[in-house]
Amino acid sequence: MRLVLFGAPGAGKGTQAQRLVEKHGIVQLSTGEMLRASARAGTPVGQRAKDIMDHGGLVPDDIVIAIVSDRIDEPDAHHGFVLDGFPRTVAQAQALDAMLAQKGAKLEAVIELKVDESILLKRITTRVEEMIARGEPVRADDNPTALKKRLDAYHEQTPPVIDYYAKKGLLRSVDGMAPVDAVTAAINAVLAQHGGANRG
Ligand code: AMP
Repeated sequence: MRLVLFGAPGAGKGTQAQRLVEKHGIVQLSTGEMLRASARAGTPVGQRAKDIMDHGGLVPDDIVIAIVSDRIDEPDAHHGFVLDGFPRTVAQAQALDAMLAQKGAKLEAVIELKVDESILLKRITTRVEEMIARGEPVRADDNPTALKKRLDAYHEQTPPVIDYYAKKGLLRSVDGMAPVDAVTAAINAVLAQHGGANRG
């Protein structure tokens, strides 16, 4: 099963991706994670990516596409994967189609977790206030301002890619504001409907 998962920061993408991994025996491929790992390892790609990531920009398509292409060739990805954070541009989406076509494979579904962002922002504001009141340390990137910035980036990047998949008839939207288990059930229902749950 090969999937792409979209969701604004704070939409619960990580949790749902993890559940898909467990249910279907697939791997979660997060380009953000892979790039951070390359940066930590200090590889040439990692050094180049780190600068861009620190400034909130997009790492060039050729770099990210090469990383994904290598990764999906690894044995643990043969049974399938859920992509998280990729594709972020139409060029990346096209490259993904091409690399899968080369293997005689294709994407089964693209799932978008829809959320009400004003509620997400309110939640994080309350959480930070509570942490401060309890005297707990607050992570520098875990605050309303940082979330707003990441949401803005998401809105700038995502619509053309979502549109690309909508036109291909692959896009399935799920209400990400529902309780976590209900979101999981909705995703499973979407996949079962399209025969996804029965395929490798
Ligand atoms: P994320 O963890 O998905 O929010 O990604 C963190 C950062 O990694 C992003 O802000 C980008 O700088 C970079 N990045 C991750 N995935 C991609 C991608 N598909 N294309 C370009 N840059 C990416």
